Formats: sequence, structure tokens, C-alpha cells
Amino acid sequence: RLHNQVEDAKGNIRVFCRCRPLSKAESSSGCSTVVDFDAASNGELGILNSSSVKKTFRFDRVFTPIDNQVDVFAQASPLVTSVLDGYNVCIFAYGQTGTGKTFTMEGTEGNRGVNYQTLEELFKIAKERNDTFTYDISVSVLEVYNEQIRDLLTTSSSSSTSKKLEIKQAAEGLHSIPGLVEAKVENIQEVWNVLQAGSSARAVGSNNVNEHSSRSHCMLCIIVRAKNLLNGECTKSKLWLVDLAGSERLAKTDAQGERLKEAQNINRSLSALGDVVSALANKSSHIPYRNSKLTHLLQDSLGGDSKTLMFVQISPSEHDLSETLSSLNFATRVR
Ligand code: ADP
Ligand code: MG
Repeated sequence: RLHNQVEDAKGNIRVFCRCRPLSKAESSSGCSTVVDFDAASNGELGILNSSSVKKTFRFDRVFTPIDNQVDVFAQASPLVTSVLDGYNVCIFAYGQTGTGKTFTMEGTEGNRGVNYQTLEELFKIAKERNDTFTYDISVSVLEVYNEQIRDLLTTSSSSSTSKKLEIKQAAEGLHSIPGLVEAKVENIQEVWNVLQAGSSARAVGSNNVNEHSSRSHCMLCIIVRAKNLLNGECTKSKLWLVDLAGSERLAKTDAQGERLKEAQNINRSLSALGDVVSALANKSSHIPYRNSKLTHLLQDSLGGDSKTLMFVQISPSEHDLSETLSSLNFATRVR
């Protein structure tokens, strides 16, 4: 109880910062690091500019390049318990392309990220509670690209034939996405299959998957329906796990045609997300959810009594300094 009160006093928005290691190429080219982790255990991160002046940023937690996927998930896992307790939760990764958003959320086969570990934990706790509760868990996988929502689990998932999904507003602020596939999952193997299906659908219709995925928001929505066997009470909660489009500014040379349109859409949706989260953090009376598909989708998992966790992903490299500062400033705005 006391623990919960302490948790509540911190509010419902957490921001974690994670810095990736220098890549092999960066190390071998003698690239230097601009990040100082001396006070990382206190949630502080120092950024050194070209004249070695240090600017300090504060977070709920700082993960250094040596923290692994298990270390990271250990700090995120209380939110998984919250979902089973009936709260809506949203976990998302923000940052420049190449800073580890996908690594944090999806991970790799040998080094699984938040998405997989979350579902594993959901099944584990659900099983521990099975004398009191039954849980139905389902997963949807979608992407938002150029302000269009695309279902990645529908069987006709080629980008040209799949129909556009729209958000339908219902009473009480709750909304639904008619037609979105919800795959019921009973165990972690089924989840893995669903995630794989989602990833391959994502590749359809794009000639460069990595490029495409850095320009779209990849979103998993996990719906947990719980029934309390003792009193018959039913709850439904939603967990969003989001790998956002890259936050980097467009190179001037690329500022035309399709690229420009993509960049404007990304910019618009990421600013909308920043506006929503900072309005929530400042307890503002108007929360501008409707300014982008992204924030509209996340509406019932951002604000109210729902819990939000943002990972700000950064690069340690001196070459990325200006993008790093821009991401850290974005994160500071929402705290
Ligand atoms: P993003 O999704 O932000 O574009 P990625 O997740 O694709 O970035 O990461 C870029 C590269 O850096 C990948 O090769 C990834 O495996 C590696 N990487 C990112 N974060 C880490 C980390 N914490 N530890 C080890 N490798 C990482
Ligand atoms: Mg990525």
C-alpha cells in the first residue's frame, strides 16, 4: 500500500532515457562520445558540447550502453501488472533513426525486447492468478503511415488492397477501430507467430523495409479482458506498445515529393504526441488528442488513470549531437 502511494505520487507519466553503444563503425573511425553517465544511477545524463560544457538532463531512469534488455524490462514490468489490474497503459519509444527504438521494443531473436517480454510476463502473472481470474488476451498489430492506419494482421495486407481503417468514437471517450483484426493469443508461441505475421505484412509493398519502418509508427495493441471469478466483475484494459517513426529532421536535399510529405506527417504526429503528453503532465484542461491519428488512437491509454512510459532513445556519437539534444528537449517537455 505504502509502496503504491509513493508510486502514485510520482504521477502517471514516466520517462526513461536509453543510450545505445557506439557501433563498430563509429568506434573504429575514432568517433567520440558526447554522453556522460557519471550520475546515471540518479537518473541524470550529461551531454558535452564541442567546448566540453556539460548540460544535464533528468529522467526517471537512465540506461547506459551496458544495460541489457532484461535490465530495461525489469523497470518497465510493473506496468504489465497494472494492465492485469485493469489500467490502460502506453509504452512508446521515441528518437532518431538508428538509436535503438526497435531494439528496445522488438529486440532481436536472441535479445528480445519490451514487446515480447511484456507478453511473456502477462501470461506468467495471468497463470499465477488463475484461481481468482480468467484472462482473455488478444493482440492487434497496425502501422500509421502518412496519417493512414493499416492493419498488419488482415489477410489482404498488401498496402494497395487493404482498406483504410478509421477510428470510431463512442460514448464515454472510448473508441474503437471497426474492422481491425484482434488475434486471440493463448501462449507466448502464438504471440511470436502473430508478431512475425505483423512484421512480414509490414514489408509488403515497400522496397526497403528498414527505411519504411523508420517512417511509420508501428503499434501493438494488447487487449486484456479479465473476469473476477469470485465476484463476477469484468474489466477490459488496453496496452499500447509503440515503436515511433524516426524523429530526425529531414535533410534539406531530401525536402521534396513523397519524402517531404512523409516528413511532414511524422513531424505533425510526433509534435501532436508531445503536445498531448505535456498537456497531461501540466494537468491542462484541454488535451489535444485529435490532432493526429497517432494521438487519437492512443487516446484512451494516455491520460485519465492510465499509465504512460516513454523511452527516449539516443546515440552517444558526437555526429548525432544535435538530434540527441532535440530528443532530450522533447523528453524534457513532457516531464
Ligand atoms: P531504430 O529503430 O531507432 O532506428 P534500431 O533499433 O534499428 O534503431 O538500432 C540500430 C542498431 O543499433 C541496430 O543494429 C541495433 O541492434 C543496435 N542497437 C541499438 N540499441 C542497442 C543496444 N542497447 N545494445 C546493442 N545494440 C543496440
Ligand atoms: Mg526502427
